[in-house]
Parts: sequence; C-alpha cells; structure tokens
Amino acid sequence: MFKLRKELGQHLLLSQGVLRRIAESLLLSEDDILVEIGGGTGNLTKILLEYPLEKLYVLEIDTQMVEKLKVIKNKKLKVIQADATRFRFCSLGKRLKVTGNLPYNVASLIVENTVINKDCITLGVFMLQKEVALKLAGKSKVSWLTLLLNTFYETEYLMSIPPRFFTPKPKVESGLIRIRRKYNAPALNIPEFKKFLTTLFCARRKMLKKKIPENILKKAGIDPSLRVEQISAEEIIRLYNVYEELR
Ligand code: SAH
Repeated sequence: MFKLRKELGQHLLLSQGVLRRIAESLLLSEDDILVEIGGGTGNLTKILLEYPLEKLYVLEIDTQMVEKLKVIKNKKLKVIQADATRFRFCSLGKRLKVTGNLPYNVASLIVENTVINKDCITLGVFMLQKEVALKLAGKSKVSWLTLLLNTFYETEYLMSIPPRFFTPKPKVESGLIRIRRKYNAPALNIPEFKKFLTTLFCARRKMLKKKIPENILKKAGIDPSLRVEQISAEEIIRLYNVYEELR
C-alpha cells in the first residue's frame, strides 16, 4: 500500500466515463504525439493507450508514482520524471497535444507553461478546479492568465465534474477545458506580455490611468478612466502594441 500525497494534488480520477471524455476530447489520430501531465497511478494513461496515437509521454514528479507508471508495458509509452510547471515541452516534438487531470495547486502554473511552449502545443485538454476552468474559459471574472491563454488559444469549457468522481475527494468541484491554438495569434514576447497583463490586472478597481501612462491609453483609443474589466481582449492587445512602441 502507499499513501497519496495531498501536497502534490494527488486526487485520482476514477470515473471511466470522464476518463473517456478526456481521451475523446483530444481528437486523437495515428500520428499524434501526446503528453500527459501528472500520470499518477495511470488511470488516464491506460485509457489514452487505447486510442490511436504515435507516442505517449507521461510527466510525473513523484518517484512513487513514476514506479507505478513504469509497470505499464506499452512500446508507445515513455514515462518521464519531471516538473510540469517548468518542463520544456518543445524538447519532445514540434506538434504536441497535452492533457492531464492536473494537480490543482499548480494548475495555473502548468497552463502558463503551456502558453510559454505554445510554438509546439496545438491542443490541450485539462481537468482543473472548476473555478479556474470557468475563469480560463472566460465564463467568470477574467484574470491575466485568461488573457494570456486566450491570446494564443481558443478555450472551451467542456463539463463540470463533482468531487465524488475522484479518490480522495477534492474539496472543490472540477471542470474540464479544451484549448486549441489559434492560427492568427499575434507574435508577442511572452514574458513581456505577461508583465504588462499582471500590471493591468493588479488592483482591478483602479482606473487604467493609474497603471498605464495616459498618453499611451489615448493613443490606443481607450478611455483612461475605465477599469481593466471594462475593456475587451482586442483592446488590451491594441494597448499592449502601443505600450511596446512608446515606452
Ligand atoms: N492522472 C491521474 C493522477 C492525477 S493527480 C488520475 O487522474 O488518476 C495529479 C498528479 O500530478 C499526481 O500524480 C501528482 O504526483 C502529479 N504532480 C503533482 N505536481 C506535479 C508537477 N509539478 N509536475 C508533474 N506532475 C505533478
């Protein structure tokens, strides 16, 4: 027997129905290279291997879980002990799909790392805390990460999953999202754009002119007395371009 580690977000997904829904949402085909994040005891891994794909890489941080995953014998499978919040996905290929029942405590960092690796990630299906999933899909109060993600990916909210489908049960509801890379995404420097977005989204109730010089707001055609929640994603990108040009 082994003990599940809460601090690593180890809540195993038991529902065969939900596991299959994740696999199907990946729209897999024979030549796909898929990366699963947080393989755990392999519940999702085993289902994914029933679908067409060329290669399945599984990232897992916990040595105990890595040993369990290594018991699964399949020549398409490769288990890698790594931290998915910093892993360089592009080292595995140029066109990857990614998925996982993510460890919720670091789910946002993993989504951010996906965007950092956007040049080689075309599609993702993630299980995360429902509140975060709704935010990322633009269905509740948006965050800087919503903006960062949705600049490069179309995000869909697929379904909600109650705690009883996991063991041990998480305290919160879960949500499944799918992200698909946009063809017409702007070529932006991600660390710079992130810095700009976090400035814009800190102290949301403050007027934009308290965060960004007024001349820049005016040149971008945005009323300086508005708050960040009152402007659209397109306006934010326009503002960023002017900001980059003038600062
Ligand atoms: N996919 C399995 C387990 C999900 S639980 C299932 O659905 O049953 C989340 C898993 O992510 C755990 O196995 C945990 O050890 C792993 N994990 C936690 N932090 C991680 C990180 N930073 N990088 C990679 N894996 C991580």
